[in-house]
Amino acid sequence: MRLVLVGPPGSGKGTQAELLTDRLKLRYIGTGDILRDAIRRGTDAGKLAEPFIKVGNLVPDAVVNDLVKELFESPDAPRDFVLDGYPRTRAQAIAFDALSKKHHVQLDAVLNFKIDDEEVVSRIGGRRICSNPACQAPYHITARPPRKPGICDRCGSPLTIRSDDKEETIRARLRVFHQNTDTLLEYYEKLGLLKNVPTTGEVEEIYADILKQLPKTSSS
Ligand SMILES: [Zn+2]
Repeated sequence: MRLVLVGPPGSGKGTQAELLTDRLKLRYIGTGDILRDAIRRGTDAGKLAEPFIKVGNLVPDAVVNDLVKELFESPDAPRDFVLDGYPRTRAQAIAFDALSKKHHVQLDAVLNFKIDDEEVVSRIGGRRICSNPACQAPYHITARPPRKPGICDRCGSPLTIRSDDKEETIRARLRVFHQNTDTLLEYYEKLGLLKNVPTTGEVEEIYADILKQLPKTSSS
């Protein structure tokens, strides 16, 4: 089985990626892992990517495509996998199409974790963390509230919001996500690969829903 997972942070994609990897014995391929690995091994694409990572810039499509190409052309090339974070744009999807045809690892499905922007803002924006560096206990204002508002149950320190979890940061990330993803999803829809996955409900219910939507036989 060869899958691509698409969804913003807070959509539950990470949890389902773990379950799919584990239970269907797939290899998990996250863009961050490929990047770090290529840089560590000093591959050609890793060398191209490193300066972007160092200054915190987004790695350009062409470099990301090269990284994935290196992986699929290596002796350790994956056969059955969950791709998380790639392809992130339509241009990357087109490049991956060509690559996967060449190596006979065409995708079986693209799972779209469709979630309303406001729901993402409330899920992530509600996260709080203990400000005590030695504690850092996580909370959520509705899903996992502390006994006393704004105060850590464990150590009594005030709770704080991580900069990644601030509303303006989340909204900025969502804007970029939609800019890239809307045309990506359209592309996969046309190929008949797109499956919409629910993002509310119990983890196991969502997993069962995904299984039902997966093609019965994996082309290998
Ligand atoms: Zn604490």
